[in-house]
Amino acid sequence: MTSRRKILVVEDEKNIIQIVTYNLEKEGYQTVLAKDGEAALEKLKQETPDLVILDLMLPKVDGLEVCRQIRANPKTAYLPVIMLTAKTQETDRVVGLEVGADDYVSKPFSPRELVARVKAILRRTQRKEMPAIWKCGSVEVDWEKRLVKLKQKAISLTPKEFDLLKILVESDGRVLSRTRLLELVWGYDQAVEIQSRTVDLHISQLRQKLGSEGKRVLTVTGAGYRFRMPDED
Ligand code: CA
Repeated sequence: MTSRRKILVVEDEKNIIQIVTYNLEKEGYQTVLAKDGEAALEKLKQETPDLVILDLMLPKVDGLEVCRQIRANPKTAYLPVIMLTAKTQETDRVVGLEVGADDYVSKPFSPRELVARVKAILRRTQRKEMPAIWKCGSVEVDWEKRLVKLKQKAISLTPKEFDLLKILVESDGRVLSRTRLLELVWGYDQAVEIQSRTVDLHISQLRQKLGSEGKRVLTVTGAGYRFRMPDED
């Protein structure tokens, strides 16, 4: 599949909209525009972009709240978000990253810099397309039916354990932090309540259930977890 990557641009300033969309489209990206926070959230119900460029200061619903809502919804929690802001204070940066932005670009910015960040983040967050039935050693997964077999025998994973497995595998060997896993599997709002120990607990249960393939779920000290893919064997 070589479909063009779609980027949702959320911005209310005309000249910035022009600069951003012109440069993204020149690079082959498809752009979708929302001019305020409310419109952005509405757009996200209809469109499935690959990335969101989100201005901090927006009419109606501000960028921080939009980002928070993107992270709170399991359907959009995985979406990479780059925040745009006129402010350069460290506190704004920190708040932006706290609500789950992946990166931050301060205005005025060079279009080339923004495009470079977009490319880097898309590379970093790309999810692997899985075949309908995926085999990995003695484990076999039917993603659609949410069926997991170990040595041809069905094993029962809880919904969260299944989601964890899916996200780890789709991340194709990349490390995911506990916070990121909490966002992706439990949703951000709940993540605040649920301790990161919950992730550790589910990971250890998942490992046990996967039998001899459980050792593929690797702990990366100080960083999180990753899945050792068959092509790394
Ligand atoms: Ca603005």
